[in-house]
Order: sequence, then structure tokens, then C-alpha cells
Amino acid sequence: MDTDRLDALRAQGVRYVFAQFTDIHGAAKGKLVPLAQLADVVSPGAGFSGPSIWGTGLPRNGPRSEYYGRADLTTLHAMPWLPGYARVVLDGYVAGEPFDACPRQVLRKQVARLAAKGWLLNAGLEPEFFLLQQGAGGYDAEATDTLEKPSYDTKSLLRRRSFLDKLTTSLNECGLGVYQIDHEDATGQFEVNYHYADALRAADNFMLFKMAAHHIAEEEGMLFSMMPKPFAERPGSGLHFHLSLADDDGHAPLALGPADSAEQGGRALGLSPLGYHFLGGLLHHAPALTALCAPTVNSYKRLMCGESLSGTSWAPAFIGYGDNNRTVAARVVHGRVEWRIPDSAANPYLALAGVIAAGLDGIERQLDPGEPVNQDVYEMSAAQRNDLGLRLLPQNLGEAVAALRVDSVLTASLGATIVHEFCALKQAEWLEYSQHVSAWETARYLQRF
Ligand code: GLU
Ligand code: MG
Repeated sequence: MDTDRLDALRAQGVRYVFAQFTDIHGAAKGKLVPLAQLADVVSPGAGFSGPSIWGTGLPRNGPRSEYYGRADLTTLHAMPWLPGYARVVLDGYVAGEPFDACPRQVLRKQVARLAAKGWLLNAGLEPEFFLLQQGAGGYDAEATDTLEKPSYDTKSLLRRRSFLDKLTTSLNECGLGVYQIDHEDATGQFEVNYHYADALRAADNFMLFKMAAHHIAEEEGMLFSMMPKPFAERPGSGLHFHLSLADDDGHAPLALGPADSAEQGGRALGLSPLGYHFLGGLLHHAPALTALCAPTVNSYKRLMCGESLSGTSWAPAFIGYGDNNRTVAARVVHGRVEWRIPDSAANPYLALAGVIAAGLDGIERQLDPGEPVNQDVYEMSAAQRNDLGLRLLPQNLGEAVAALRVDSVLTASLGATIVHEFCALKQAEWLEYSQHVSAWETARYLQRF
């Protein structure tokens, strides 16, 4: 341990370090460690009971039952919204080896595959979320916030300035670089944009964002929620990934370079041939990737095609891409790929690892994403969609998990241990939901039949 760093943290008033990892469901977990004890968390690591952590699949007894979280000191930083506390991110180890069911280790492996080619994936994650207050009818936005077309509403935005200011200030002190904040398409829904980072850092930053936002909202007497679709009649919350590659020479291999002609990029959307293959990989693996990117039963109420309850949801429902098309899985903007399927119920490490594995497969097998689609696919008839070869995304968690189970490329790349564990948990979640008899069903059927 570098004593200068410890002294600097001490001088900032830090007394405890939150040694944090992320479970398979994307929840932040960890222990508080007095600052003076931090060296032990670097090696041998903080000990956790393996089977008590979702998604480890570790046994109750024996040497493999203990999960060690070893601190990655590059992530050590004070948490400005919690004076006296810092956070460090842990990598999972079992029996002295990197643990293959630790989502951060799974992402590290994919990052290393890119690095072997001289590439780095940069990812800008765009969190959308609701800020709610408890009222007589449960949690909702304040009545004064009820709007017909809420996008970019300034009154609701400014009413939340105390939360937003504390959040922005804290995130910026941690180096996230917030650059825009807006009121989104649903009453009570917001989006905060901060700078992209390499995939590992982007996932770490997103977890930091969530921890800060939950805490600050609670202190403000509000509920911060990233549930994908909390209100049936309003748009849901996505977590779009803006993706680009960078190489050692400062080039962006997915994008057309200044010296390239549009023809070299074929479809003139600013992507290089390599960029189209990467996109081809994402689209080819889209059904399986959807399980990793939209991993709850609720996620599919956001992604579902149709205008029935929510009006325009702006969430993708079809496997395709366009240059500014929000009805399909990917948009190509400024030579970047915006992958629109993810929501914030995703474990960001696993979702990004899946994206890298799919993109690399596209590059290695030179997969073609087909032609861009620039029409509103929500509006098309089934026949028109069939003519264009546009397939629906999985329509529920069961379908998505089934697609992941048979995706041998993603399973081999991410590792059978984590994929099997993920599928088993998510299949159980899907079964439990499918067997549940909801209030909607009894209201609809009890007296009818
Ligand atoms: N809320 C939409 C979604 O669930 C996205 C809206 C937007 O494009 O910003 O993906
Ligand atoms: Mg948005």
C-alpha cells in the first residue's frame, strides 16, 4: 500500500473504505473496512461467504466456499456524498485464482481479448431513472410534475435541482464528468449523461453513479429507481451503451477515418467495414445478449412492441439498426454504435462483456448487419417487417434466457460457469413470474368464467 495515498485520504477525512463488488443482479455489495486495514483487502482480500452471494454457485463448505474480494487500487476514491468514506472496487478470487463467476473478472477477460488486438472498448452508459416520492397511492412523481409531453420540461427539472446538484458535484469530484441532465419522456423520469470511459471503468462508474444516486435521493426524502418499466402507461428507463473502439495509435477502428471515403464504409453511416462487422456481431447475438442486457421480467414491458399503453416508448423492439432510429436495437451516430437494448437492471460488467464477445465474433467471422432501416418500425405491418427481415427481440425473459442457453459463442467467451449460473437464476425468476396469478388476471377472469 502506498502510504502517500493513505495519508492523502486521511487528510481528506476518510476513515472507512467501502470495499465493493457487484453481484450477478447488478447490486452493489461489500464491507466497510477501516482505512488502516486496507492493505489486507489488497491481499489476501476481504473474505465473503461465497454461497451468500447471488450468482456465485459456490458450495457451502470446503475451500471453494470462501469468496475473496481483492481491491483494485486504481478505483480507490473518496465518496464525496458520504464524508469520511471512500470506495474501492473488488475483483473476485476463489482458492487463490481469479473467479470465473465474478462479473468483473468476466469483463476483464473480454477486455484482455480486445487488448491482444491492440484495442480498447470505450463505452458511454446513459442512465435513465425515476425520482419518486411516497404518497397515499404508493410511489410516484409529485402531482405538480404531471405533464402531457414531459421531455425536457424545465419546471420539473429545476424542482429536482437539489438532488441533481448534489449528484453532479459528487460524480464530478470522482472524475465522471457530467455534461448534460434532462427531464425524460415520462413524468418523474430523468437522464444524467457523463463521459464515456473504457469498458471496465464505465461499469465501475455506473455502479458508483447508482450508489450515489440512491443515497442522495434517500437523504432528499425521495426514491431513486432504475426499474426498467415502473409505470405501464409511461415510457420505461433504458441504459443505452454508446460504443466505440480505440487503438494504441489514437484511431477509432469502428469509425470511418478522415482519409476514408463513404464508399469504403459501404452504407455511409460513418462506420468502417470493421464497424459493420462489430455491429453484425451484436445483431447476430442480439437475442442472447438481450438476456444479459434486459435481465428481468419487467424489462420486456419496456422493450415490447406496440403503442398500447405507453404511447411512443422509444425503446427498441426489433433486431436491426438505423442512423437515427429508436425503434430498433442499434443506432449509428457519429461513427459510434448506440446499443439501445440495455436497461439498468443489467449487471453492467456482464452486459459489456457480452457486447465485446458478440462484437469480436462479428469481426472474426466478418458478419454483415444487413441494410440500415430508417423507417419507424413500430408503424410497419408484420408483412413489411418480414420483407425487411426484421425480427422481434425476445418478448419475455424466458425467450431471452432460452436464446442465451443455446448461444455457444457467448457461452464459450464468457465462460460456461457464469452463463449457466445466470440462466439458472433467470429461468427460476421467469418460472416464478409465470406461475404468479396477478391482480390483473383475477380482475379480468374471476367473474367472467
Ligand atoms: N426511455 C427510452 C428507452 O427506454 C429511450 C428514450 C431516449 O431515446 O432517450 O430506451
Ligand atoms: Mg434518453
